[in-house]
Amino acid sequence: MRHVPQESLAEFVRHTLPPSEASQVRQHVAECRECADLAEMFRDVIRVGANESAYEPPAGIVRIAKAHFEAQQREAVHPKRAFELLFDSLAQPALVGARASVASARQLLYRVGTVYVDMRVDSEVNSERAALVGQMLDSARPGHPVSGVPVILLDGRKNVASAISNNNGEFQIEFLLKNNLRLSVTVGDAAPVYLPITGVEERKRPAGASRGPN
Ligand SMILES: [Zn+2]
Repeated sequence: MRHVPQESLAEFVRHTLPPSEASQVRQHVAECRECADLAEMFRDVIRVGANESAYEPPAGIVRIAKAHFEAQQREAVHPKRAFELLFDSLAQPALVGARASVASARQLLYRVGTVYVDMRVDSEVNSERAALVGQMLDSARPGHPVSGVPVILLDGRKNVASAISNNNGEFQIEFLLKNNLRLSVTVGDAAPVYLPITGVEERKRPAGASRGPN
């Protein structure tokens, strides 16, 4: 069975597909678990974006979809990997150029098992102050927000700031910019993973980064 292209699925859940195409997609989604789950994940993203929060899902659901499919393919090869960096706006020269006015905003998308951690780091001009806003989505449990998950920003082993994801799986942390900050995320019963937040660009192989503070 051919799956629905992710762009079409994204349009489908936004109700922006032409009716004839929409009915084809609806029929496929009714019969295909995989596409149905993905559609549900997209609805989560849209739901969060519709809330009056300061946080907008960066670059939208198609990017998460692409990352999701790519991660699934890699998962078959490296099932034991604790986490991987799927997207970093600093590694996308075209994007950075197009957004010169907000060059201090950086977007990061990590995968921790089946959970996607989508983040934006904003720093003020001429200031060390920064804010990290993020959202977690569990691709294995669409429709169930990743709420109540503790996230802790670490400088080495030192706890710099912390937050707990809210009912939409969102979290927000304010902090002072420093190199090599990492975000500790503990999903379910798994051991915490440490996601690089600053200094990621120097890492040649971010996905192979260590699992604990060194
Ligand atoms: Zn399908």
